[in-house]
Amino acid sequence: MTDKEKEQKALEIYQQLINTLEDVPEKAEIINIVNTLIEENGLSPVGEPKTTLKASRRKFEGESVSKTCPKCGSDHVGNRGSAHGKSRFRCKDCGASFGSSTGRLSEGSYTSEKAWDIFVEGMLCGDSLPSLSEKCGISLSTAHSWRMKLFSQVANSAEGRILKGVIQEDEIYLPSSFKGNWKGAVNLGIEMDYTDVVPDYRKYGFRDYPHERGSQDRKRGLSRDKVCIATAIDDGRNVIGKPVGRGNVSSDGLEHAFSSRLDQQSILVTDKSKGGIKYAESTGLAHFALDSKTEARKGPYNLQLVNSLHSIISEISHSRFCFATKNAELYITWEAWKLLNRTRSLSEKKDTLKNLVTPGKKAVTMQQIRSRELPEVLRQVSES
Ligand SMILES: [Zn+2]
Repeated sequence: MTDKEKEQKALEIYQQLINTLEDVPEKAEIINIVNTLIEENGLSPVGEPKTTLKASRRKFEGESVSKTCPKCGSDHVGNRGSAHGKSRFRCKDCGASFGSSTGRLSEGSYTSEKAWDIFVEGMLCGDSLPSLSEKCGISLSTAHSWRMKLFSQVANSAEGRILKGVIQEDEIYLPSSFKGNWKGAVNLGIEMDYTDVVPDYRKYGFRDYPHERGSQDRKRGLSRDKVCIATAIDDGRNVIGKPVGRGNVSSDGLEHAFSSRLDQQSILVTDKSKGGIKYAESTGLAHFALDSKTEARKGPYNLQLVNSLHSIISEISHSRFCFATKNAELYITWEAWKLLNRTRSLSEKKDTLKNLVTPGKKAVTMQQIRSRELPEVLRQVSES
């Protein structure tokens, strides 16, 4: 390893340490000690405090700020001075006290805010991972983790939302991919003995030969190695998009994906597939089943948005940028977010993403990102 790589590795270990401290009550004190030790040795992992200190001096105690409370979601938030060189805020509704990154994208990360800024902008502009890593001064594996963290923040903020009004729903079948799961340590340059390790695709009963990009599937029809993704989008820009099973989708699969998340007064628009119709009947919702491709493209009840999203997802998953199946939901929610926000300005989108919070939920940690597993619903082949 070169010195630069060693420094990067040390920084990553430091970040992991900080993430692990997440749930420790005395964490502020421990972090201070670690930071002091690092600074005394002439290193500076913390680029943030100097700027936040300046910013906090300009604000007065109790002044309203444009922050969302990470605990209750209220926008009624006031400034509360600073602690350990970082601004603190207090929610005027629930009384929660929180820091500028609490529950947000940059939580637990000791890289500068500026790096996150460049990163989010790059993600919105479709930059590649190597280019993001170079621009932000982070390693490739950190860039990958940051990407998953951004996707998780978007997915978490959509979690639990109820879809209302006119809801478009459709399914798409994608080839499975176990990219990145197999011999992960080797890719990170760590030596490990893999003789007893069972690769995920074998563990979960997917076919025993690696997926070749761009190749035609040998089996015709819907094989058990294909993953069914179901997506529902309402006219208020809310999305649910996730894998619902392997092979042909059943109405049970759709029930699993959308259970209790569609408002009872809404109108469901689907195509005329059996699963969709059966599912619509089971929900008791008002239902429009569209007959043809032309019908799906126009009129007040159409499948335009969901079809556009599915073409984007399908293109990615058949390209060399295909995503690991275990991360499918994150990629779908991200692409949906971009599609639904396509008319907003870059800076508006950047601000929204950097400030996304899910009330009552912590920002996802790098550890959680690394230990992500294949969703339960894809582990077994259904016997139907
Ligand atoms: Zn609150």
